[in-house]
Amino acid sequence: MKAKILIVGGGGMGVSIALHAATRCDPLNEPVMLIEKSRLGAGSSGRSGAIVHAAYSDRMLAGMARDSLKQYTHITTHTGRSVGYRKTGVLFLPGGEEKASNQADLEMQRALGIVANEVNADEMRGLVSGIEVADDAVGIWQPEGGFLDPGRTINTIAKLARARGATTRSGVADPHVIVKNGRVTGVETDKGFIEADHVVLATGAWTRELLGELGVEWPLQVLRTEEHFVEMPSVEANEEDDLDDAGGHETRFLPDPLESLPVAHPVLIDRGNCFYIRCDPQQGRSRVGRIGFTNLPELDTPLGRSEVATKEFSKWAREAVVKRLPAYEGLSDLGSNAAHISVTPDGRGIVGEVPSVKGLWVVTGFSGLDYTLAPSIGEGLVQMIEGRPVAAFKPEFFSPARFD
Ligand SMILES: Cc1cc2nc3c(=O)[nH]c(=O)nc-3n(C[C@H](O)[C@H](O)[C@H](O)COP(=O)(O)OP(=O)(O)OC[C@H]3O[C@@H](n4cnc5c(N)ncnc54)[C@H](O)[C@@H]3O)c2cc1C
Repeated sequence: MKAKILIVGGGGMGVSIALHAATRCDPLNEPVMLIEKSRLGAGSSGRSGAIVHAAYSDRMLAGMARDSLKQYTHITTHTGRSVGYRKTGVLFLPGGEEKASNQADLEMQRALGIVANEVNADEMRGLVSGIEVADDAVGIWQPEGGFLDPGRTINTIAKLARARGATTRSGVADPHVIVKNGRVTGVETDKGFIEADHVVLATGAWTRELLGELGVEWPLQVLRTEEHFVEMPSVEANEEDDLDDAGGHETRFLPDPLESLPVAHPVLIDRGNCFYIRCDPQQGRSRVGRIGFTNLPELDTPLGRSEVATKEFSKWAREAVVKRLPAYEGLSDLGSNAAHISVTPDGRGIVGEVPSVKGLWVVTGFSGLDYTLAPSIGEGLVQMIEGRPVAAFKPEFFSPARFD
């Protein structure tokens, strides 16, 4: 077996890279292959809240997020496939010190074509029914943000990659990158050797271990993160959301039911109280997580699938939500989830070639911005592999050379 580009890891990053690579490569002469040790979405991508928005203070990240959201929309409107992109809007409640920088951020975001507005307390009460905010509170509203369905996103993007000639193989485990004379030659796996000109490690929290085998030690940390699930408040039927109400939507395609399921409220990112909440209407629940990485336990090895949050976390999450959104008072707890994320000391992901091994590329460490940036990362990485100018981002921003 021979590939021009061999991607190891079938999470959100891996499939996005596969799609962009397949779009550029001739399937007969330049095959693109993705191998996954378990099944697509088996890593932290499958357990993610998958909230997406473009409210970044960094201009480049905001632009990448804007482009990524366009790509998700494009998939839905141009391929007939869906990633379950639910544009509920995202309401941000800034923490104390953030308020001053809001204006500059908003101006920068608007200059990039991102829709973002300041909203006062009454407007917030209109957006999120029953929200508790002070009368002088000011929030930021991004109507185009929302969330994706993580499983569907991965499967849809993998299908599109295969439709463009890529091969995806699950159950291919134990990969060892083979290097000769400082250049990658392929990957030895439990199913045999796969020759490759370029190997991309999109192995999330497992990347540290794979790099370690090659003597590459970067300061990648694996942190435990948790989410608590609580019953979603009931939603009053809204005629505009009624799929049978054909008169309301003049569209050539039937909307994807997943994108039309009613939600109790938009995504809420409460930076002051360090939590986020997003509805999960398919499951009749909402997911609550903590913002920020301080004090998250470091893990030696990534977590398995059946892990749950600690009781302390669930109690904290419930209390934080009920204080802001009293509609959740008395609603049932519906379980929890603990998973891992891969982070770097400077909070910036890694995208680039391992300086000591030609043809070996790494994409990891996006600290929870993964879905928001994955389409732009996939595009930019393939531009780098092909030696073309990188339009999707500034390569030095994510360069692994900063750890070498
Ligand atoms: C609770 C939680 C909430 C989150 N919320 C958000 C959010 O709101 N928005 C957002 O953008 N991001 C969020 N994230 C982050 C994000 O979803 C994931 O961290 C991200 O998708 C990681 O993507 P990945 O492809 O790099 O890694 P992974 O999804 O972990 O994929 C790596 C894949 O590589 C495979 N693999 C590993 N080792 C090998 C090997 N040796 N051989 C073959 N295959 C291998 C694994 O099985 C896995 O499928 C959240 C994460 C968590 C845990």
